[in-house]
Amino acid sequence: MAKIRNNYNFQFNNQFILQLPADLESENISRQVEGAAFSFVSPQKTQNPLLVSINHQLALELGFTLEELQLKDLATFLSGNRLIDGMKPYAMNYGGHQFGQWAGQLGDGRAINLGQIQTKKHGLKTLQLKGSGRTPYSRHADGLAVLRSSIREFLCSEAMFHLGIPTTRALSLCLTGDKVTRDMFYDGNPKQELGAVVCRVSSSFIRFGSFQLPAMRGDNKLLKQLVDFSIEQDFPHLGEPSVAVYIKWFQEISEKTCKLMIDWMRVGFVHGVMNTDNMSILSETIDYGPYGWIDAFDLKWTPNTTDAQGKRYCFGAQPEVAQWNLFQLGNAIYSLIEDAEPLNKILNDYALKYENLWLSMMQSKLGLDELIENNDADLFHRLEKLMSEEEVDMTIFYRVLSSFPEQPSLWLAHFKECFYDEGNLSDDYLAKFFQWLNDYQNRLVKNFSTAYERKNLMDGVNPKFVLRNYLAQQAIEKAEQGDYSMVDELLQVLQSPYSEQKEFEHFAIKRPEWAKNKAGCSMLSCSS
Ligand code: AMP
Ligand code: MG
Repeated sequence: MAKIRNNYNFQFNNQFILQLPADLESENISRQVEGAAFSFVSPQKTQNPLLVSINHQLALELGFTLEELQLKDLATFLSGNRLIDGMKPYAMNYGGHQFGQWAGQLGDGRAINLGQIQTKKHGLKTLQLKGSGRTPYSRHADGLAVLRSSIREFLCSEAMFHLGIPTTRALSLCLTGDKVTRDMFYDGNPKQELGAVVCRVSSSFIRFGSFQLPAMRGDNKLLKQLVDFSIEQDFPHLGEPSVAVYIKWFQEISEKTCKLMIDWMRVGFVHGVMNTDNMSILSETIDYGPYGWIDAFDLKWTPNTTDAQGKRYCFGAQPEVAQWNLFQLGNAIYSLIEDAEPLNKILNDYALKYENLWLSMMQSKLGLDELIENNDADLFHRLEKLMSEEEVDMTIFYRVLSSFPEQPSLWLAHFKECFYDEGNLSDDYLAKFFQWLNDYQNRLVKNFSTAYERKNLMDGVNPKFVLRNYLAQQAIEKAEQGDYSMVDELLQVLQSPYSEQKEFEHFAIKRPEWAKNKAGCSMLSCSS
C-alpha cells in the first residue's frame, strides 16, 4: 500500500505495538493467533472513498489544523486507502464471553488501528477504522460495515460524549464506494447496502476480553504484559505494576464501570450486546451495535432481536451484567494475584456502590438537595413502578417534571405529552400517579433550593434530546438516498442535549406510533 509523507501536523507514537508482542505470521487469513496482542494488517482499498462527515471539534482536539481538514486526501486517509508516515496498522487480539458463553478468540474482525497519535492535551489517542476489511480475526465474515450501522455509531458516540458519558469517539464517517451484502435479520433476505468506515478514537481500545483470552489459554506472560501495559499507559496514577497495584487497578475499573452503568440508566441507554469483548477497560461506552434508547420506560426492554428471548442485556439488567463481566475480568487476572479475597470484596462492593450511586442519581433526577434515607428510596421505587405500569416516555417525563405546576388541577395537562396512551389511563392509575406527585410536592418542601435552582439542577441531568431510535432511522433512510442533512442536524442538536434548543423541538417529541414496531426503530440485530 502506498505511503505518503506525513502532511499532517501530528506525530504517531505507537506504544501498543512497540511494547506488546506482535503476531509473527503476516498472512492475512482467519486463524488462531497465540502469544500475540495484535497482528499487523493493512486496510482494504475501496472503490471511491467519500467523506460524509467529520467531527471538527474532535479533529482540532486531536491536533488537525484547519488547513489539514481541507486536504483532499482526508477521505483517502480516513477510509484506510492511504497510509501516512508513522502509521503501522494493526488489529487487536482478544476473546470474550458472548451471551454468557465463552466464545474463544474474537479480536478486531473488522477494526483496524491506524496508530496512536500524541495529542497536546489528552495524551495518546488511537485512531481506529471500523469496517476497513478483513483481518486474521474476521473468521468467516467480511470485515466490512454498512452505512446504516456506521451512522448509528457516528451519531451515538457523539451523543454520549455530549451527555457527559464516557465513550469512544467518532472522528469521521466515510462512504467506501463499495457495496456490502447484509441479511439484516438473518432471515434469508440479503440486500446490497452501502459500505462505510467510521474512524473511532479512544485512549485505549483494550477490552475485558483482551485479558480473558491469554488467561483462558494459560498464557500468563502475555496476560501480565497486557495488564502492566494498561496500568502504565492509562492508569499511571496507580504506580508501578505490582500485586497491590493490580488490585487497585481492578478496583478502579470496577468503580468506573459502575458509574458508567449509572449514566446509562440515567439517560435510558441500552447497549444491547454487553459481551465481555464489548467492555472497555477504560469503562467507556464502546462498540455501538444494536443499541437503543428508552422511549416508554421499561426495564425489560431490549432493542436487540438476537436477545429478544433471554433479554440478558435488557435495560434493567445492565448493572448486574456489568458486574458479571467484571467477575470474568477478575477471574482472568486471578493468576497474577493468587488471592481471591480482595477481588471478591471488590465485586461485592460493586452492588453496594451501585445502590448508593443509583440513589444519588435519582436524587439529582428529582432535584433533591439531600437524600432522606428510606423515605426517598421509596419515592424513587414507586416512581419507577408507576412509569412501568403505563407507557411513559422517560425523557419527556423527567424533563417536564422540573417545571410541574403547583395546582393539582393542572397536572394532567402538564404531563399529558409524556404518556403514549393518555386517553386510556385508568382512574386507578391516575389516582396513584397524582398521589405520587402529591408526595413529591410535599418532599420538595424540605428542599433548600428554590424552584428555579431545582429546575436547573434537574435539566442538567435529565436530557431533553437523546438519539431516539426512530430519529436515527430517519437520518439513515435519508442518507441511503444521498441526503445527509439529517445526520448533520442530529449531530448539531445532540451536541447540547440538556439545552432547550426551541428550534429543534421536533426532535424532542415522543416516538410516533408508526415507529413503534418498525425495523431499525425498535428492532435491531447484530448484523452491521
Ligand atoms: P460485535 O458483537 O459487533 O462486537 O462483534 C463480535 C465479534 O465479531 C468481534 O470480534 C468483531 O470483530 C466480529 N465481527 C463483527 N462483524 C464483523 C464483520 N462484518 N467482519 C468481521 N468480523 C466481524
Ligand atoms: Mg465488539
